[in-house]
Amino acid sequence: MTLVLGVDIGGTDIKLGLVEGEGDIRGSGKIPTRPEEGPEAAAARVRLWLGESGDVQGKIAAAGVDCAGLVDGERGFLHVSPNLRGWENVPLRDIFERALGVPAIVENDANAAAYGEWAKGAGRGLKNFVCLTLGTGVGGGIVVNGALYRGSSGFAGEIGHAVICADGPLCACGNRGCLEALIGANAIVERAAGMLARAGESRSAWGASPTVEALSRAAASGDAIAAAAFRETGRWLGIALANVVHILAPEAIAIGGGVAGAGDLILEPARATVRDCRMDEAMASVRIVPAELGNRASFIGVSLLALGRLNGRR
Ligand SMILES: [Zn+2]
Repeated sequence: MTLVLGVDIGGTDIKLGLVEGEGDIRGSGKIPTRPEEGPEAAAARVRLWLGESGDVQGKIAAAGVDCAGLVDGERGFLHVSPNLRGWENVPLRDIFERALGVPAIVENDANAAAYGEWAKGAGRGLKNFVCLTLGTGVGGGIVVNGALYRGSSGFAGEIGHAVICADGPLCACGNRGCLEALIGANAIVERAAGMLARAGESRSAWGASPTVEALSRAAASGDAIAAAAFRETGRWLGIALANVVHILAPEAIAIGGGVAGAGDLILEPARATVRDCRMDEAMASVRIVPAELGNRASFIGVSLLALGRLNGRR
């Protein structure tokens, strides 16, 4: 039995999964990232976790490591990550290979999630598939003809930084009107608060700074302003998805991440917008579906990518 360790590094936690060749999970866990201690310390903590995971020690054939940001899988470097301050131009692959003693690969977390969803989740059996991960940031990953598409730079799939609204709100990347600046969690909360202020109302149930989750609960129980905020959010998402459909024509686009918990509050207006924007009826056949693997998508995907590399596939 070949086991691969998936290491999904977030700003707060590292999610770990022991994944078998078929993508089945044989063990999983979570340890703190503590990014301020640096990548070597994080890798050492992953090694400790592995040691505590009983009989699996010594059975790891490879490791896949993913995080948000610009990850150069070819050279094994993390250039920069929004969640990992100070981890700049870090040879992440070497660090984990040294710590774990097995071959490792590194990948962007949204790419890893897209590959995981394609292999084991909402994209199973499809040739062409796109997955968006909606949270504070908006990540994207593209599978073309059954392989992760990285582009010439290795940084393809940054759908969150596609400009959807010229002169729109400022994005964390420095541009204006990126999808992320329009539908990231903070943008949704600000949108709802703005709509509430314009209506001259206040909602004690929302609190001073509601979460997207609280807003979606309010919308689901009939709060018209919260619902309108999600409708507008879904419309922006739909414009981005219509562009994806025009460029890539995938069979399905899966939407995951915490914000996607709002479900049809966002997905229905997104689907309607894609229908409105399509050039031809055939383009409306793309399925826009919820992702299926939750926060396990990245470590499953990056494990399977590592296994593929081990077996000589890309
Ligand atoms: Zn941006």
